[in-house]
Amino acid sequence: MSKLDDPVDRRSGQERAAIGGTRLVATRTSHQRPVVRMGVDKEERLVMPGTACLVEVAAGDSIDIIDWQGQQVADLVAYSSANIEGEWLSPAHTRSSLGRLKLRSSDLLLTNFRRPILKLVRDDVGGHDMTYALCDAERYLLGYGIVDHPNCREALFRALLPYGVPVHRIPDPINLFQNTAIDADGIIETRIPMSRAGDTVSLMAVMDTLVGVAACPQDQSPCNGWAPTPIALRSPRSSPLHPFDRRPCR
Ligand SMILES: [Zn+2]
Repeated sequence: MSKLDDPVDRRSGQERAAIGGTRLVATRTSHQRPVVRMGVDKEERLVMPGTACLVEVAAGDSIDIIDWQGQQVADLVAYSSANIEGEWLSPAHTRSSLGRLKLRSSDLLLTNFRRPILKLVRDDVGGHDMTYALCDAERYLLGYGIVDHPNCREALFRALLPYGVPVHRIPDPINLFQNTAIDADGIIETRIPMSRAGDTVSLMAVMDTLVGVAACPQDQSPCNGWAPTPIALRSPRSSPLHPFDRRPCR
């Protein structure tokens, strides 16, 4: 079965009832299906391709980003909740600090002030991308001649509207699950992700953090296995899904 043949409607009534809501209790029996058991202390939201969601993560809490059906990239941006206009997760500062282009477990992700903002505490895949920009309208127009293609920049812009972040001032992302090959000459190439259904990345907030996650709608390259699918977010009740964003993702 292709991942496109795995629609939300295959889920139980309990699962369907929770899609777009604030809680999800999902139990899957197939080895190809993620098993997600939600307790009363958790919330979960599906982020559909071309949309984005925000989560306020309190310092010390963790957020799980789950590749729901496999081979799907999640573009992640993050801001210091205390200074959304001025301090955010910076892939450039993170690369500089780590001295490499790929994340490993226990890595600290830094802000543009070189302060730790997130820590990678679980990584089922490894090798996430810290080189590519958000996809945007220009990427699809210039690269493929497609006008008004859904894109991660506009999805995050819509999610961040309550904060008034200008669309072209959204910082560079860390592209979770993106499989970027880097050769000895520094040539980078996007390949089909290695992530499988249910693979999870967990990030612990080092400071109070506003996290934004877009499910990348890139369907013109191997970036998402040629067929974008949802990303799931799971956060503790103490770090609820953003109050502006409790409805289904936009
Ligand atoms: Zn994208």
